[in-house]
Order: sequence, then C-alpha cells, then structure tokens
Amino acid sequence: MSDRIPGFSTLAVHAGAQPDPTTGARATPIYQTTSFVFDDVDHAASLFGLQAFGNIYTRIGNPTNAVLEERVAALEGGTAALAVASGHAAEFLVMHALLQPGDDFVASKKLYGGSINQFNHSYKNFGWNVIWADQDDLAAFEVAITPKTKAIFIESIANPAGNITDIAAISAIARKAGVPLIVDNTLASPYLIRPFEHGADIIVHSATKFLGGHGNSIGGLIVDGGTFDWSKGGRYPMLSAPRPEYGGIVLHETFGNFAFAIACRVLGLRDLGPALSPFNAFMILTGIETLPLRMDKHCQNTVKVADWLTKHPKIAWVSYPGLPGDKQHGLAQKYCPRGAGAVFTFGLKGGFEAGVKLVSEVKLFSHLANVGDTRSLIIHPASTTHKQLSDDQKTQAGAGPEVVRLSIGIEDAADIIADLEESLRAV
Ligand SMILES: *Cc1c(COP(=O)(O)O)cnc(C)c1O
Repeated sequence: MSDRIPGFSTLAVHAGAQPDPTTGARATPIYQTTSFVFDDVDHAASLFGLQAFGNIYTRIGNPTNAVLEERVAALEGGTAALAVASGHAAEFLVMHALLQPGDDFVASKKLYGGSINQFNHSYKNFGWNVIWADQDDLAAFEVAITPKTKAIFIESIANPAGNITDIAAISAIARKAGVPLIVDNTLASPYLIRPFEHGADIIVHSATKFLGGHGNSIGGLIVDGGTFDWSKGGRYPMLSAPRPEYGGIVLHETFGNFAFAIACRVLGLRDLGPALSPFNAFMILTGIETLPLRMDKHCQNTVKVADWLTKHPKIAWVSYPGLPGDKQHGLAQKYCPRGAGAVFTFGLKGGFEAGVKLVSEVKLFSHLANVGDTRSLIIHPASTTHKQLSDDQKTQAGAGPEVVRLSIGIEDAADIIADLEESLRAV
C-alpha cells in the first residue's frame, strides 16, 4: 500500500480518519466538547502563539472537524481546509482574509441567489465592492478588473440552471491580474470537478448540499490550493503583514503553502466566530463516505429526467449541459465527464401559472429551497426565491416566469419521471 496514491472513493471513506487512539472507535467520534486541557503552561503558550498545532477551543478547531477538513482537502487536492458553520460563512471568511475596506472583487452574474444578496448588500457594510461579470462573456471579466480588485469569484456549475463555467479561461484572467480565483464547487462536488486542476486558487463549499448530501446539516468548507503567492506587493496584508496578536509573525512566511487556510482559521474563524458544530461535522463526514455512489446515481437519474422532459409537449425548453444537444455539452465533457450534476432548469409553455400549478401538484418531489439532497426537489423561482425581482431581472438571473428548477435525487428514475408526468397532466 505504501507508495500507492489512493483513489477518490478510498479517500472519500478514509482520508483524515484513524481508529480513535484511546478507545479504538472506528467511526470518527463526535468530540462534543468546547475546550481541551493543556499539558502545562508552556504548552498553552505555544498553542496560543501558533508555535504548536493543537486543540484549544472548538470555535477555533475541533478533532471531529479536523477529520472533515483533512478529508475535503484530500478530495479537492488542496493543501489544507477549514470547516465552518455554513457555505455563506465560508464565502465570508475567504473575503475577510482577502479584502480591505474599499477593495473590489469580480463575481460571475450566475451564482446562488444567496451569494448575490450577500455580495450586493451585506458586504457593502465592510466596504467590499462586488463588480458583476457575465460568465459567458470572458472579456467582461477582464474589463471588470480594477487596480483595487483582489479576487475573482465563480461557481464551477452555476445555480440555478447548472451552467458549466470555463474555469481555466477565467483562471488565466485571474493570473494575468495577479489575483486569486475562488471557485464555489458546491454543485459539482470534487467528484465531478476538481477546480484546482483547472487553475483555481481557493475553493469554497456549501457542505449543506452534495457533500453532506442528505438534507440534514448546514455546513461549509474553505480549501486552500496552496498555489497563490501572497507576498507580492503587500496586496494581501492579512497574509503578508506582521500580526500583532501573534507576536508579529507573518502568516505566509510561517505557514507557506497552507497560509491561506491558517489565516481563515486564526483571524476569520477566531474573531468572527462561525464555527461548525462537531455533530454537523460528523453528519457531513458520514455523507462524504458515499459521495461517489450518490453523485453517479444523481447524474444518471438527471440525464434520464432531463431527456424525458425535452420530449414532453408542455415543456418549451430544457437547459442541462449533460444532454448531448445542450449548447454547453462541450464544456461539460471537458470539465465533468462523469456527469453534469443534478441541478438544472426547464421552461413551461404555460408560463407563470403553469409553474405555480406544477409545484403544487408534485408528490414525490419536495417543493422547497434547497439542492443536493437524496430526495428530488423542485422550486418555481419566479414565485419564491426570485419573487422580489422585476420581470427583467428575473429573466437575467435565469428565473423567468416559466422557469422551474429541479434537484434530482437518488430515488428510482422511473418514479421521479412518473411524478412529473402525473403533475404535468394537471398543468
Ligand atoms: C447553498 C449554497 C451556498 C450557501 O450555503 P449555505 O450552507 O446555505 O450557507 C453557497 N453557494 C452555493 C452554490 C449554494 O448552493
């Protein structure tokens, strides 16, 4: 075994975990404790001064969370990871480590609706300015970059329509501008796309979705690619300036290729506080063990459902890059040959009224605002998540009046299709 590099499915089950040294427990225990006893005063001092690694207090680190961190870092091929309370907390701590008040970042217009809100409104309070760019127009990303730009943010597979982003092309733009590329890899999971292989520098996840996979726990992860040079021109002072609270150490000099993950932990998580409960870490770890099996089934089912919808007389269009006829099928084959994920949209010929009717008729599908559950999920964005927007804004966001979004579960495809067939009959 010694020199073998384990495959993805082996890492999904084992990475980061060992039998518990004191009890022999084989599954990772839930270390449900707030704090950890020091060996002595010197040990405590070295932990607080970042001269030694170890547990102090669960807001900053916990052994159950550490297994999750090591596992996701291994699955993504990063140098280190940080588990936090939610996907939004992951995005927030990344920006906190990168941006100063008055700085800009460029973000793709096709994002999870919650990220659009977070960037447009809450981030204004920190003086962080988002500049939006259309991911189908690469020139728009170049034009959007200013001397104050500190990062680019995209999703690998974008919500809500499942669009595939050309990560390598946007990475080239980020390199040229000297800024890190952050990829939200939630909808793909590392099983379908590994963004570091295409030039990403930082990955964030909502573990709430496919990583946990069972619709039962909120959580998030930050993964450090170890690729970005933080020393350049002092543009990232959180990493390149001496830290007064840690005896003047410079994080990128002390921690090298995992300095970004350390910065998110010892500055962001320590001071802002969105810690992941060890119980949720356990749930998400358990979910990850079956990630490859679930993603294969999600993708197989989704191809069947999307293909069936293209032939239905009440359906105007289907947008799923996993279908051979889709305009993004080429990108899907390049970035996610194992499958294009389980989230996609379609349009109803009957428009808004038909969408409202369909979500009220389904029985196997759950009508709710989530994705990446074992269960099949449905939402009509125009009457729910995107209700506040003007008709024009709705259409731009891919949430026009006729649009329905599905997240296909791992039930039997025939039952998923039967539920849609019966519900469409009433539309
Ligand atoms: C859900 C989601 C988030 C936010 O994650 P939470 O865990 O709900 O905070 C961020 N990005 C994407 C793509 C998501 O689907």
